[in-house]
Amino acid sequence: MTDLPVRRLRKRLLDWYDAHRRDLPWRAGPGESADPYQVWLSEIMLQQTRVDTVRPYFQAWLERFPTLEALAEADLDDVLKSWEGLGYYSRARNFHRAVREVVADYGGTVPDDATTFRSLPGVGRYTAGAVMSIAFGLREAVVDGNVRRVFARLLDDPAPADGLLWEIAGAFADSDRPGDVNQALMELGAMVCTPRGPECRLCPLHRECAAFAAGTQNERPAPRRKATVAKEEHGVAIVQRAGAFLVTQRPESGRLGGMWEFPGVARRDDESAEEAAVRALGEKAGLSGVVRHEYEVVRHVFSHVVVRYLPFRVDAEPNHAAADLPERARWATRREIGDLALPAAQHRILAQLES
Ligand code: SF4
Repeated sequence: MTDLPVRRLRKRLLDWYDAHRRDLPWRAGPGESADPYQVWLSEIMLQQTRVDTVRPYFQAWLERFPTLEALAEADLDDVLKSWEGLGYYSRARNFHRAVREVVADYGGTVPDDATTFRSLPGVGRYTAGAVMSIAFGLREAVVDGNVRRVFARLLDDPAPADGLLWEIAGAFADSDRPGDVNQALMELGAMVCTPRGPECRLCPLHRECAAFAAGTQNERPAPRRKATVAKEEHGVAIVQRAGAFLVTQRPESGRLGGMWEFPGVARRDDESAEEAAVRALGEKAGLSGVVRHEYEVVRHVFSHVVVRYLPFRVDAEPNHAAADLPERARWATRREIGDLALPAAQHRILAQLES
């Protein structure tokens, strides 16, 4: 453990938070109790996503699924459609599964102990700490990117070990207001101790901050080595018939699980993108086809892979009736496609078809 004066820092941090906290739709006001479902939802939406992006999604979501029960009863298609544009769709799938478990196994009440809550799909150490402390006032810690940066600077440590970060976060959370302490740490990282150009003169912790004293705040923490990003090329078949497009649904697990797309597969080394598009048509819809036209490449960056989608207009054979398509394939008019959950790259392909 470090010799940081945690009690003193926490007091200053809370005074600052009480005066400067942002008014966020999922944040209970002073003296109000937080709704566990809403806190949980906000924490899932905020992973990898900015507050300003989340705001309208959060509000629209609660209009669509106002309670745990309403979400548990919803189809995955509706859930994914409501998440469309937020990305990292496994968050929505796991949240939906977890909420169904809460309704089926816990009588519709979010479990108020961290161990049980962590056993739910998609709930890791961070989410458990955030929801347990904010919604139930339990002394559970959080460490996210903001908290890590604040602690690395307080310690003037370029690469603090995860164990140390959680230990310090635990000492901060060991208080009468653990939810506020955790939110204050994250708020400080988001608003004052920002990645570039932290506003140290406005920071309630600057007197104890080792990086500020040393003038090294912009170098702390040291950038993590970037993970190597894989690259894929996907051949995509655009098949149109009687005003409708052929679309297929991805399996529920894995990248973009449960979402709809124009049939496509990753190109193998021994085939061209056109051949991959025709193969996709066979594998996903049981049709063969002839490539007629090439559209513009659409590129999309996922967290660990960059995918180049190469779409081709394909004439398909035989002339199947809709009933002959496999379960996860269907014909959809432009309007019907609007009701399906479609990933961002597929929207961009669709935009090309319309122009
Ligand atoms: Fe961050 Fe500056 Fe505050 Fe240190 S003094 S915690 S570097 S904002």
